[in-house]
Amino acid sequence: MEDTAIDGEESREVVARYRGSVVIARVRSDGLIVCPVCGRYYFASEKDLILHIISHAKQELYKYKPDNHG
Ligand SMILES: [Zn+2]
Repeated sequence: MEDTAIDGEESREVVARYRGSVVIARVRSDGLIVCPVCGRYYFASEKDLILHIISHAKQELYKYKPDNHG
């Protein structure tokens, strides 16, 4: 009989750092890091998480067109 006391609020947080980027994300009970942007992808390493988040940011960049480029 397993005693898994997962009550929704029992979630750890991790501060992932990669090349100057800092991301705070939740960690599931199985140790995978949840993407804080979409919440639909899970990662075993902080690097993978941040590369995924950078891809989110790039998608935003395509939509966001600042006037003062150059
Ligand atoms: Zn995501």
